[in-house]
Amino acid sequence: MKIAVIGFGAAAIGFIERMKTEGHEIVVFEKSKDIYSSSISGIRADGKLFVSSEMGGDMHIDLALQKKLVDFYIDNTEDKQVETGQSFTNSNYFKKFYEKGFLPVSSDFYHLGTDQLKMVLYNIYENFKNFKNISFRFEENIQSVNIKDDKCYVNEYDEAFDKVVVAVGRSGHKLIGSILKNHPELILDNTKVDLGIRYEVPNHIVDEINKEMYEFKVKYKSKTGYMVRSFCNNPSGFVVTENYDDFVTVNGHAKMKDKSRNTNFAILVTIQLTEPFNNPIGYGSHIAKLSNLLAGKGKVILQTYDHFKNSKRTKNLYRIQPTMPESQYILGDINLAFPRRIIESIIDFIETLNEVIPGIAYPDNLVYAPEIKFYSNLLDNEKLLNLKFIGDCSGYTRSIIYATAHGYLMAEEILKKD
Ligand SMILES: Cc1cc2nc3c(=O)[nH]c(=O)nc-3n(C[C@H](O)[C@H](O)[C@H](O)COP(=O)(O)OP(=O)(O)OC[C@H]3O[C@@H](n4cnc5c(N)ncnc54)[C@H](O)[C@@H]3O)c2cc1C
Repeated sequence: MKIAVIGFGAAAIGFIERMKTEGHEIVVFEKSKDIYSSSISGIRADGKLFVSSEMGGDMHIDLALQKKLVDFYIDNTEDKQVETGQSFTNSNYFKKFYEKGFLPVSSDFYHLGTDQLKMVLYNIYENFKNFKNISFRFEENIQSVNIKDDKCYVNEYDEAFDKVVVAVGRSGHKLIGSILKNHPELILDNTKVDLGIRYEVPNHIVDEINKEMYEFKVKYKSKTGYMVRSFCNNPSGFVVTENYDDFVTVNGHAKMKDKSRNTNFAILVTIQLTEPFNNPIGYGSHIAKLSNLLAGKGKVILQTYDHFKNSKRTKNLYRIQPTMPESQYILGDINLAFPRRIIESIIDFIETLNEVIPGIAYPDNLVYAPEIKFYSNLLDNEKLLNLKFIGDCSGYTRSIIYATAHGYLMAEEILKKD
């Protein structure tokens, strides 16, 4: 079989790892310039690997397979040094959160750190490159996939493939859009978007919980009826901007060696609307663009929690200094860009969390916006025999381990049917 894999990220890695010794020809098309490029693969920032049945994606993945893939990544680090921990195995913590209305999410995690990830990706690539049946074509931004008879073609090439496996992550939404134009029957669901903020507090407020579990993940049904969740906790971490084609959002990460004095985590409100609404990406992008319009091109809004709560523009900061460079934010008022129901849901979350972690609602804690997590359309992998979607672009995954496992399982399925 001759297989084209489009994109070289976590999902492609899982797919190739399972397929590499099976004798099939694999051609990888990757839009980035080379393996060193900063835009290649989603496994470039932070590198927190989770083993959990409660988060990471909307599919069942056996915990043993998840752990096997975590070990695969750790084996590709230089000295196998990782930070590890478990969320909510301590029943005292579980009860403390539960009694205030939170739903604690259990997971084991392994933190590689942004600084180690480059090496991991490079080592995996070097291993794959040694296989004669695997070839890499960089600087190949695939615009279209066409099916003719029982063969597949990428871009306008004459080269025919028996199967095309699309693994382009979220950054490949243009290619997915072009495929869906010809195959709208593949769309199963598209109504969800997570909208919120990145919250930054001094380490000492969350020291105890950071030591206990590093990553605390909780869900909370707020008084507005919306579900709110904490996401991507970064002890001693950094808040950064994330660039999309035509807007900028916030994100956070932590490094293994270089540490800050602050902890940051996202607080996200899940918006799931019903018909005739069918454009969650449009909705989220408009709010992001409105925030950028207020902040100035390429910038995000930063506000103290007290001002965020009382809808006042922040003009000065007090005790806590932001980890984001000053050139990337403007002090402002997020209330001018976010709908009230979302703001109220976030405030309710923070005030209730303050009952479990005193100090979380200090007035001078920092709020950055917008933070947005888009969900890709859920795509039907059963409809077309020779065109498959794996990882985040398929809508089934949202994490490194789930995306890698999805690729791995897709390879097994193809081998079974072969
Ligand atoms: C800032 C940030 C931090 C994150 N931190 C974590 C974390 O700590 N832990 C975690 O579990 N998850 C994390 N995630 C999520 C995680 O990175 C993704 O869930 C995961 O990488 C998805 O894997 P994927 O293979 O589907 O896509 P990706 O890993 O994004 O790979 C897609 C690849 O396809 C290429 N591509 C895109 N379009 C085309 C095209 N048209 N033609 C050719 N190539 C194309 C891209 O260049 C890229 O290399 C983070 C995400 C971000 C943005």
